[in-house]
Amino acid sequence: MRIDLHTHSRCSDGTDSPGVLVDHAAAAGIDVLALTDHDTFAGWDEARAEAERLRIGLVVGAEVSCRLAATSVHMLAYLPDPGEPELQAMLERVREGRNARVPLILERLRAVGVVLDVADVAAQSRDATSLGRPHVADALVAAGHVANRREAFDRWLSEGKPAYITRYAPEPADVVTRIIAAGGAPVLAHPRGRASRKVLSDDVIASLADAGLAGVEVDHHDHDEAVRRALRGLAGDLDLVVTGSSDHHGTGKDGHELGSCTTSEGEFLRLLDRARVNAERSGRVVPQPYLP
Ligand code: AMP
Ligand code: ZN
Ligand code: FE
Ligand code: FE
Repeated sequence: MRIDLHTHSRCSDGTDSPGVLVDHAAAAGIDVLALTDHDTFAGWDEARAEAERLRIGLVVGAEVSCRLAATSVHMLAYLPDPGEPELQAMLERVREGRNARVPLILERLRAVGVVLDVADVAAQSRDATSLGRPHVADALVAAGHVANRREAFDRWLSEGKPAYITRYAPEPADVVTRIIAAGGAPVLAHPRGRASRKVLSDDVIASLADAGLAGVEVDHHDHDEAVRRALRGLAGDLDLVVTGSSDHHGTGKDGHELGSCTTSEGEFLRLLDRARVNAERSGRVVPQPYLP
């Protein structure tokens, strides 16, 4: 079984529509795919229809933006009730922050002589419900300023670079609580990747486990072997599910091909079990995984 539990579509900053993403997963020999767009559930229906057509497993979810001590942290939410009002309101507020940030980023770019319009970004983001820096990067590529997203981040968009603008995101502990109340399973995404390693100490992860965290993403491209070993040990101590995923963004991110990191069948079943328990306790009507 090849199980890939963290991918993005064009509903956020991936480059494929949800349907095409599912097509690619099937072609790559993936047995179970999770769609986890940033801060939106918009791609679920399209992905589900295509998964049923191709008879490939699908778990719906999202990657929720969080902030801890001014540092960005990502929380995967598997199988929550998308209609749960407080989770919905939380995601809406995050998406508003994403939208409000775009003109501010463009102002900063203008100050360093790079002139782009909101319409240039919209032309790239098209039908995305969740707007991100990668869409600004795509507009920079389209206008010929840089060759790819990575170069746009390195020159202007990454934290500490001239066009970096922060945005609203809730605290991870609150996000864990909201996901559980919506009957879903929260899993900490790439905790020792880039920025988040500064704030996600073993103690902080233990406190999130106390709050109901179900798992940690261990096998991720941002984690080297030593980090993975340490996280696996911590997950064992805290009884957390261990996941692995590609964090695929289509052609938007090199080295994150579908299935390039995977979750074992045993851990996947444990994760479904945690989701089932949370769903029952919450009393919410949650989406079911599609497992043909
Ligand atoms: P945002 O959601 O707007 O804060 O932007 C963060 C997203 O940008 C992440 O989900 C990454 O996928 C993407 N990203 C961050 N750094 C890079 C990079 N160096 N190259 C390509 N994409 C990146
Ligand atoms: Zn992304
Ligand atoms: Fe992430
Ligand atoms: Fe991601």
